[in-house]
Amino acid sequence: MAHFKNFKVVTILPAPTIVRELDHLDEDYEKITHYVPLDKVYLETFRGDSYVEREKMKSAIDFFKAKGVEVSGAITTCIPDQSAADRDKQRLFETFCWSDEKMRARMKEISEYTASLFDEIILDDYFFTNCTCEACRRNKGKRSWTQFRLDTLEEVSRDLVVGPAKKINPKCRLIVKFPNWRESYHGAGYNPEKEKDIFDAVYTGTETRATAYQDQHLPRYASYSLMRWMDNAAPGRNGGGWFDPFQCFTVDTYNEQMYFTAFSRPKEIMFFSWHNLVDNRFTGPSGMQLGKIDRLLTDLGSPAGLPVYLPFNADGENHVEDHLGMQGFAFEPTPYFPEFQEGGSVFVTESSLRDPDVLEKITDFAAQGGKVFATTGFIAKAEPAKWEEISSARLTGRHILADRYWLTDDYADYVESGTNILFPEIQHSNNRSWVLLNAGRSDFMTPIYLYDSYGKGGIYTISVPENPADLSLLPPHILDAVKKSMNAGGIYVTGRNISLFVYDNDTFLIYQNVKEPIRPEHVTVHIQNETAKLVRIGGDPSRESSGEIPLRRVESSYNLQPYCEWVADIAIEPGEFLAYRIVR
Ligand SMILES: [Zn+2]
Repeated sequence: MAHFKNFKVVTILPAPTIVRELDHLDEDYEKITHYVPLDKVYLETFRGDSYVEREKMKSAIDFFKAKGVEVSGAITTCIPDQSAADRDKQRLFETFCWSDEKMRARMKEISEYTASLFDEIILDDYFFTNCTCEACRRNKGKRSWTQFRLDTLEEVSRDLVVGPAKKINPKCRLIVKFPNWRESYHGAGYNPEKEKDIFDAVYTGTETRATAYQDQHLPRYASYSLMRWMDNAAPGRNGGGWFDPFQCFTVDTYNEQMYFTAFSRPKEIMFFSWHNLVDNRFTGPSGMQLGKIDRLLTDLGSPAGLPVYLPFNADGENHVEDHLGMQGFAFEPTPYFPEFQEGGSVFVTESSLRDPDVLEKITDFAAQGGKVFATTGFIAKAEPAKWEEISSARLTGRHILADRYWLTDDYADYVESGTNILFPEIQHSNNRSWVLLNAGRSDFMTPIYLYDSYGKGGIYTISVPENPADLSLLPPHILDAVKKSMNAGGIYVTGRNISLFVYDNDTFLIYQNVKEPIRPEHVTVHIQNETAKLVRIGGDPSRESSGEIPLRRVESSYNLQPYCEWVADIAIEPGEFLAYRIVR
């Protein structure tokens, strides 16, 4: 019987764990499930030089079945390093050389063997290649490494993994888990555009770890946004989100990975791995939060953030949307340009330019009445004549150090921040475009948020600091000038290091990211609606009051921004999440 209403809790036993720890399964199962109830385990047949023989695997399968835990298979596509014998085949993380006939044969054999044991198999995220051996160089020919690897992994997925597995066991569902490094997939051959349809399902790496130090430089919001991107890439076929304790350092970091994964509404929450749940000081605290998250998800609808267009195989201005997501912008990344709908919005970054037609698409979108939000990274690489059609904003190539902000018109405010932030300088044609927010010092300012009307809609240009994490240093209410228009569902929040998650049933959730200095934050929630009530949700009804939150009405006559808002002041602590329903 499922432990939670909204998701399954799962873990994986890597091949070395099964080989070495089989005698301790019972003891370790008790330890883990004391804190984290398990609905399903993935049992791995192969990883590097570890291989689980049939008899051993059968006893592991029997053990979990007897406990009422679902069982699936897993494979990690690493193979022992041969570099000592053959320097030409040096490969990071012992990933396969797909030009090597022996390795190809081994892959096929492992797929067949695993399919003979299981009706579902997941591939851990080593299913890529970085080999540059002579055979790979020859097979690559005139193609770029990226194109060669995309083509190779597409072929390998079909011919060495899914094809052979289904031949042995036609019922077998194959799942490809994609890593946390979306912006780099194509460089190593990860090909979600094709693999999502070759495999039965995808799975998402949400291991954002300690952002300031870890290897992939991922803002925590990526644990949410990559899940959403994958859900949109393969609707209904994103199997779950997967995180681990590596490079987390603190309980809050580990738990935040789980929270942000959970807020995206995963089918499964994967704690990597069995061994890391047994010997992990984070297991208890994370297990305690699962029930609370489950209650919240029962009340929340489907995620409904502002669409971010990140086409397949795109990179550039990497994770700028995630840095904004750490400061209260609610996003819904997608590899497909959104269909125009009345009141629709789309956010484009340098990555969006992977689509050669994106400028025509945003021009049409705005002409029909949509709001287009474009970063300075987008403008920098966009074809000048096509961009000039829709906005007068242009980059000078110079940079301005700012410690002062000026909000224009009768929403006017003038703030000295005391912190220097470097912005690209934008010039524009005054009164063709209108500046909503300026940044500067002494007697000079540059626009950092400006508006061009176009057709029935408009183009908003947002300047991203040279270090995008500096967004957290802006005085929080300064960002309101952006959030008034760049939001989802007419909801935004004022507050530092606050993330906002918006759902399609008039519910939303706020979370204070645990960042130095550790202190509570007074958040202002803004609802751009004529009339509204706000009610707390997701608490335990028998223990917590979930009464109405007092709102006050704020009006502005500023002609480019909404004229009426209902606002609420809410105190929140680092690591706390609070959810609300708007009653209209
Ligand atoms: Zn090779």
